[in-house]
Amino acid sequence: MPANKKLLVLPGDGIGPEVMGEVRRVIDWMAHRRSLSFEIEEGLVGGCAIDAVGSPCPDETVAKARRADAVLFGSVGGPKWDSLPFEQRPELGILRLRKDLGLFANLRPAVVLDPLVEASSLKAEVVRGVDIMVVRETVGGVYFGEPRGVEKAADGRRRGFDTQVYFEDEIARVARVAFDLARKRRGKVTSVEKANVMQSGRLWRAVVGEVHRAEYADVQLENMYADNCAMQLCSRPKQFDVILGDNLFGDVLSDLAAALTGSLGMLPSATLGAVDATTGKRHALYEPIHGSAPDIAGKGVANPCAQMLSFAMLLRWSFGLEEDARLLETAIEKVLAGGLRTADIMQPGMARVGTSVMGEAVVRELEKLAA
Ligand code: NAD
Repeated sequence: MPANKKLLVLPGDGIGPEVMGEVRRVIDWMAHRRSLSFEIEEGLVGGCAIDAVGSPCPDETVAKARRADAVLFGSVGGPKWDSLPFEQRPELGILRLRKDLGLFANLRPAVVLDPLVEASSLKAEVVRGVDIMVVRETVGGVYFGEPRGVEKAADGRRRGFDTQVYFEDEIARVARVAFDLARKRRGKVTSVEKANVMQSGRLWRAVVGEVHRAEYADVQLENMYADNCAMQLCSRPKQFDVILGDNLFGDVLSDLAAALTGSLGMLPSATLGAVDATTGKRHALYEPIHGSAPDIAGKGVANPCAQMLSFAMLLRWSFGLEEDARLLETAIEKVLAGGLRTADIMQPGMARVGTSVMGEAVVRELEKLAA
């Protein structure tokens, strides 16, 4: 069967190639058992790209990403490259891809799976059933606004400054992503800002409200100050469905939401660009939220689930393969329910396994589910 789904795979550094190897098993299984064939290219990004060609994100990688229907990204960075100047760091690889592909909306699900309820630092009754999607704007706001810098003031003191800035269309397009998602979920968006003390927050609230009234009146919209949202996430997380935030608040709150689940090795993410009016396609990159975990790299103990769940998001969001995405998510949940655990999510009475045993178990479970 001809492959019609173009995938760029960027394993990166540290545990990236190890956990990506387990996704390749799943892809092979899907090709054989679900007749899903992908045309796969690999590329260089991060520290390994610096070593090979002197750039954390070579032009060739960007060109491949533009040609692909979706990019599956591992993780980048590590102590080997820590002393490089800021402009040459491996982490710039992901920033360039986001910028060049116009990936403006980061989606981070924070789902507490039943078998891992006890892994959360919060009480089981608070987190059981939590299923939140945080949508974060990723190409604007205070991380990119100009002017920014550190300078010496007239009185000799050093002064550091950044600029929080948003145009209304940047707010509107990410708001639409959040509303569209809410329609497919439980129909509620909580938009966060600090409209009480920030001018950009006032604009954020106004624009989100306008988009809501004009296009998404069927979705429930709630506005919440970001600090209150942080508190509510810890005290009553089940009230949330989709949380929408700017680059800074979205960054902080998505980490907080992730912490509810208690397991970095379980959390995927997606970053989406705009839908092309002519082709109907959108650029998208999928990656686990964890980094390259240099402390465990090469030991065969990394948890591959976040990378696998990122692939499930890819199936769902880039190819509309909801059934296959659910199948993979269910297989992972069943493996966990059966008692297998990598070290990061180890619990008393469970069986501790390494990366490849976990990957094999997921494929076995897929086989059972498909039988
Ligand atoms: P990290 O996420 O790599 O690791 C934090 C801790 O979680 C470590 O103890 C690690 O062993 C553990 N961990 C992470 N993923 C795991 C997995 N799949 N299975 C088991 N344990 C796991 O964060 P860090 O230590 O702050 O950063 C390490 C490097 O990764 C740095 O160079 C950082 O810049 C980079 N980083 C890259 C990305 C990315 O590629 N998008 C994201 C975050 C950090």
